[in-house]
Formats: sequence, C-alpha cells, structure tokens
Amino acid sequence: MPATSPNTVFDPGTPGQLKKKYESHSQASKDKRKGQMMIKAIKEDIPALVEGLNFKQKVERALALIEKAYKEFGDSLVVANSLGKDSVAVWHLAKRVSPKIRGFIVTTRFKPPETVAFMHEEVALYPELQVFRNDAEVQDKLYETEPDRCCDILKVEPTRRAIKEMNVDCWVTGLRCTEGRTRVDFQEIEQRDEGLLKLNPILIWYEREIWEYLALHSVPVNPLYAEGYRSLGCAPCSHISTDPNERAGRWVGTSKCGGECGIHTRPLKLVEGAGI
Ligand code: SF4
Repeated sequence: MPATSPNTVFDPGTPGQLKKKYESHSQASKDKRKGQMMIKAIKEDIPALVEGLNFKQKVERALALIEKAYKEFGDSLVVANSLGKDSVAVWHLAKRVSPKIRGFIVTTRFKPPETVAFMHEEVALYPELQVFRNDAEVQDKLYETEPDRCCDILKVEPTRRAIKEMNVDCWVTGLRCTEGRTRVDFQEIEQRDEGLLKLNPILIWYEREIWEYLALHSVPVNPLYAEGYRSLGCAPCSHISTDPNERAGRWVGTSKCGGECGIHTRPLKLVEGAGI
C-alpha cells in the first residue's frame, strides 16, 4: 500500500508555473509511455468482485488501481470530483497515492448553496482542484422540459473542456455499479473515448462501504447528506427520497428519473465541430 499521507503539504506554484509544469510533465509522461505496455481496459466479473471482496480488499484494490494508472499516466491522470460522497472518497484515495494528483470540479448555476460552500472549502484545501462551469445562456427551466439537454450544456460541456484543458489521458471517477439501474454495465478500467482511459476505482463498493471509509478517515462531506439526501446534484433535480434506489431522488418527475447527467455515457474527447 502507498505510504504517502493525504495531509502532505506541497507548494502548487502559481497558475502559470503550474500550467507549464503540468504540460511538460504530461508530455514527458506521454513520451515515456511510447512503446511500453499500457494499462488497458479489461472486462472483469464485476458482480463477483462486489460480493466477493471485503471492505479492506476493496480499499486496497482501489489504491492499487489508482497507483498503477498514476505510474503510467503521471500528471495526465486527473480525478473528477463532483463533491458527492463517492467523489470525496475517490479524491481521498488518490491523495493517498500522491498528493500531487490533480482534479477538477464541474459546477453549475443550479448547485445548492451548501454544495457551493463545500466546493469553496475543498478548493481552499486543495488548490490543485480546478473548477469548470458553463455560463452560456439556457432557456428558462430547461431542466424541466429537456433535462438531458440541460445536463449536456451545463455538465457535459465543461467536463469536455476540463479533459481538454488539463491534458487528461486518464480520468478517475467515483462511479459505483451498486448505485442504480443505470450503473450496472461499467468496468473498473474502461475506454469509451479514443485516447482517454477511464478509471472507476470504487466501482465495486457498496454505499455503506463509502460511508465506512469516510468515517474511518474523518473525511468532510457535503452537509446536505445530514438533511437526508443520498445522491446530490443540482438543486432543482435533487430530492430527498426514501426509495431503496440510491438515485431515486434525481430528476424526479422527468423521463430522466434516477438516471445520469451524461458525463459517464457521452463522448468526452472533444470532436471539433460536433457540438453538444
Ligand atoms: S442536474 Fe438539472 S439543473 Fe443541473 S444540469 Fe442537469 S438538468 Fe440542468
């Protein structure tokens, strides 16, 4: 297991220095990878792993996955942090592998004030977390009439921009296959876009194992969980639900109910001229 501490302090440098440093590291990392065996998308028996591994084994597996990918991708490995419980768990795991690992947050004009305040706290703590947001004009209450379009504009577009601007070759997510009907067909290592590997290191964790990990490591979480939310997104599209399905409170009353915002299902490597 990696011996690094999540609390290790390092000087990130100025934004200009950082950009230069990461560009050169990213290129060096790409050059180093040329001609070498690369970490590849593999098909595993995910349900067997979900049920067959205990909590400790799942933590070790997640750390090993991130460590292996970080060794290969270096600074072009970046963590997507949605500020939900799964994301903060993945972010904490990544920081144990290396405090230098960078991340990005995609925010929207509709995030609840509690989430925005939590975002500011996280960014103050981790300046290597970059925030992306799309301020383009959207039709009033588009989230009611066309939630897929609204998510495409406000969430997928800034995610694509983050992937491009941060020179990402491998992105790490907090996706879990036990979270709902839309999340059963994923793998821990995937390649949905050419030139962009996707790592889902906590894919096989149960919801209770996330809370177990966060409690054991005293990881701060969004205060909205204390109000009863189980899955968090934008304010108009997140509700408190007592349904056994963890994502039942998302997009209630629309065709998208319990569904996805699109960042896990839509292409993310920007194809010029393709639009949203
Ligand atoms: S979660 Fe709702 S408000 Fe947020 S981008 Fe998607 S549809 Fe729009």
